Amino acid sequence: MAILAEYHKPRSVTEAVQLLRRTDVRLRPLAGGSQLVGALETRALPDVDGVVDLAGLGLHRIEATGDLLRLGATATLSDVGGHPVAGEVAGGILRRTAAYEGPVNLRNVATVGGVVASAETDSEFYAALLALGASVVTSDGVRETVTPLADFIIPSSHHLITSVSLPIRALRCGHARVARTPSDRCIVAAVVVVGDAVERVALCGVGERPVLAGGALTPPDDWKGSAEYRLAMAEVVQERALAELR
Ligand SMILES: Cc1cc2nc3c(=O)[nH]c(=O)nc-3n(C[C@H](O)[C@H](O)[C@H](O)COP(=O)(O)OP(=O)(O)OC[C@H]3O[C@@H](n4cnc5c(N)ncnc54)[C@H](O)[C@@H]3O)c2cc1C
Repeated sequence: MAILAEYHKPRSVTEAVQLLRRTDVRLRPLAGGSQLVGALETRALPDVDGVVDLAGLGLHRIEATGDLLRLGATATLSDVGGHPVAGEVAGGILRRTAAYEGPVNLRNVATVGGVVASAETDSEFYAALLALGASVVTSDGVRETVTPLADFIIPSSHHLITSVSLPIRALRCGHARVARTPSDRCIVAAVVVVGDAVERVALCGVGERPVLAGGALTPPDDWKGSAEYRLAMAEVVQERALAELR
């Protein structure tokens, strides 16, 4: 187990960012802990002296106002899937892709902000957010900045993801995946979202993180699939997702 010298549970975003800015200790944001705690325990992440627990910041709310849906950074994947608006957006694509992030005990702790910050290549939930045209809201403790997820770069420790927002529109979606077994995380997957003047295809497993189709693809070449296989499968899953949508 990693030896943590400090644990903080601030009550405001400003206080949390101030802690993360400290130069005398290296503190990391702790959300659901499903990734971070394992990385600390195995010492895969050695340069951490302590954590800033985000649970007291009140960032767990999911709010639908007008045509905008705001998912608080510490809302869990189960919260999103079970929410009457968030769970049903574009035919339920967030609920559906959340189910592929991991088993229910993981979905009960893993958060929206954690998924976005981790930006794992095989995160179908992240791909669904991309296809839905989501933006990431970060805070430097004083002001908030909104960045399209497609352009988002993981924040420095001076910024905290506070929410993810997305437009609520009449959208339809298609989703297809290739995995070793149906319950495994995907090797490659596609999410297609179509609506009034909107057509977006997001892909998993063909870059460092999920990406919108149309740009250069840089697939990993690993034990789950060669780069060549992943590129071939990316075309297959796009076709299947479009076929489902049709
Ligand atoms: C058994 C198991 C299998 C897993 N398999 C996969 C997998 O195959 N692919 C995959 O994508 N993930 C996988 N995960 C990882 C994990 O489920 C996701 O990355 C998860 O969504 C992380 O969310 P969290 O809230 O638990 O984040 P945490 O573990 O608390 O944090 C993850 C990272 O995000 C940062 N962070 C969290 N919230 C914020 C914020 N609001 N602002 C800024 N930084 C923040 C943390 O500092 C940390 O670096 C797995 C986890 C487990 C336990």
